[in-house]
Amino acid sequence: MTAPAAAPPLDVDRVRQDFPILSERVRGKPLVYLDNAATSQKPRAVIDAVSRFYATENANVHRGVHYLSERATVAYDEVRARVARFLNAPSPETIVFTRGTTEAINLVAQSWARGTLRPGDEILVTGMEHHSNLVPWQLVAAQTGAVVRAVPITDAGELDLRAFDGLLTDRTRLLAAVHVSNALGTINPVRWMVSRAHERGIVTLIDGAQSVPHLPVDVQAIGCDFFAFSGHKVFGPTGVGALYGRAELLEGMPPWQGGGDMIESVTLEHSTWARPPARFEAGTPMIAEVIGLGAALDYVETIGHAPIGTWEEELLAYATERFRGLDGVRLVGTAREKASVLSFLVEGVHPHDVGAVLDDDGIAIRAGHHCAQPVMRRLGIPATARASFAFYNTRDEVDALVRGVERVRRVFA
Ligand code: PLP
Repeated sequence: MTAPAAAPPLDVDRVRQDFPILSERVRGKPLVYLDNAATSQKPRAVIDAVSRFYATENANVHRGVHYLSERATVAYDEVRARVARFLNAPSPETIVFTRGTTEAINLVAQSWARGTLRPGDEILVTGMEHHSNLVPWQLVAAQTGAVVRAVPITDAGELDLRAFDGLLTDRTRLLAAVHVSNALGTINPVRWMVSRAHERGIVTLIDGAQSVPHLPVDVQAIGCDFFAFSGHKVFGPTGVGALYGRAELLEGMPPWQGGGDMIESVTLEHSTWARPPARFEAGTPMIAEVIGLGAALDYVETIGHAPIGTWEEELLAYATERFRGLDGVRLVGTAREKASVLSFLVEGVHPHDVGAVLDDDGIAIRAGHHCAQPVMRRLGIPATARASFAFYNTRDEVDALVRGVERVRRVFA
């Protein structure tokens, strides 16, 4: 058997030309954008798709009988099929458009969990959740009497999988776990976790906000019941994302918001609901943003997951090695399986000051708790500085970051 041909390497200089913002100067210096875990930059293809929609196709969807409305409706529904293919979901009807990961998780919390959970039932999260995959469960726990439990994490920022097994009990109704940690970069073994949960009949939700931009995702291979992601982190517009839900579960879930487009029939006294996914998309949706999301997913697939993965791994390894050689710098999050996130501390300097000095050099990183306060508390630190890479970042940019951190050390010596 011949081995599959290796994917051609990524031509980073070429792909950078697809992103107009990467040629901007910031504070008189070339922009070095290393805040991709917060939001990614947009290729021309996405910017053009959104502006072309407004310039030539804008109309409301699902309502009009006129040409433009029909065209907008077709374009909108095509992206649903596009997202389904991207996630390898079994059908477009299993994809609900939302404003992003946060809204997708709140939808499951309020539509599925609120009516399902009983006092004493347990929701299992992990100790490395973004607040988006923690606070909605705390809210629904307060509404139902359920209890939120968390899988502890190790000093390296990995899940304690032995503890995980012990936390799956007869009371556990839901496992809600992050695929890739935004604060630490850890890639969790979600396929294995989902299968352990399913052995006990536990429903599973995976927060894919940070995995979709870096890894090929196959919701059927993971086996999860729900999967959420945000468009803006995968090179698409802000204000749009999607929830994948297993058809049988979506079918049995009540609406969580009422309004136009989500009904079958309405009288003054009573309404009946449309089938999913329309049942969960009340009101005029984010049409242009959905069109932009479709263009973003097309773009990512044109570049290819394999070259993206290879390049990002190389960048992360290079950055990790360079940082390990820096005096007074500590990496936070050293899991064996990591996506391209580098959280770090500079001895004696608050992460916000690190960020401010780097900003003077035109380098954009993030400093803070990254909406993951329990992670910071567990590691006994208030915050970290975080550089997060996308496939359009370069070794030269890593070098610029390292020079910037050396300057931080000198400024605060
Ligand atoms: N989950 C993770 C792991 C994230 O990193 C983020 C955003 O940073 C979210 C959820 C929330 O995403 P959004 O704000 O796009 O809804």
